[in-house]
Amino acid sequence: MEESDVMTLKLYLDNSYLKDTTAVITEQGDDYLQFDRTIFYPVGGGQPSDRGHVEIDGKTYQIVDAKKNGSEVKHFTAEEIEGDVSGKIAKLFIDWERRYTHMKYHTAIHIIDAVVHLLGNPDMLITGSQIYEDRARIDFDFEKLDRDTASDLVKRANEVIKEAHPIVVREISRDEALSIEGLARTEPGRKLIMSLEKVRVVEIQGLDMQADGGTHVRNTSEIGKINLGKVQSKGKHNKRMEIRIS
Ligand SMILES: [Zn+2]
Repeated sequence: MEESDVMTLKLYLDNSYLKDTTAVITEQGDDYLQFDRTIFYPVGGGQPSDRGHVEIDGKTYQIVDAKKNGSEVKHFTAEEIEGDVSGKIAKLFIDWERRYTHMKYHTAIHIIDAVVHLLGNPDMLITGSQIYEDRARIDFDFEKLDRDTASDLVKRANEVIKEAHPIVVREISRDEALSIEGLARTEPGRKLIMSLEKVRVVEIQGLDMQADGGTHVRNTSEIGKINLGKVQSKGKHNKRMEIRIS
């Protein structure tokens, strides 16, 4: 029980669409707060942290960053925190526009990953990705990613978006997770599964299932349209493509 006492319940894992909530302050520093639960996504997995604000006793603090702190989440404030606020109830609000953009890009990267395999490139692994406010980049371990190949990927990904696949999140056992072929195609994904009792999986219905701790849209149609940006070679096996959503 000790452990659960100090764990921040991550509400965004069950419902990525929560824009505000109330929570109890469990710890404070000069410039940070921790809560018993949160809607703030902490930076990780190529997705930037949420921003937003919290209200305590009628005073507003801007949240400029959120980072994992073990099983808790530290919420960094722009202003110094006044007085002892431990045990008080706070109202939490995220910058929804920023988060929703991140959710669209994050889900778009899943779709491109799935499309790579649909188009018959099982050796083409995504080795990393980074989401920004206006674009995302995806790195591949692959020799032959030229602009035509990248264009084909984006074209097929946009078809998937138009097909309006529902996206569902659920928890399965580690054994079940390990028995599903291709559940984690990347090394971080496999490490994640091995370290967990229960594995959160994200399924783009009719397309793909991945182990994952991120935030996603509920339907591929919410993404809009993916546009191909730069395609670059960063080495013999290291290729990078940039996407923008409109
Ligand atoms: Zn994800």
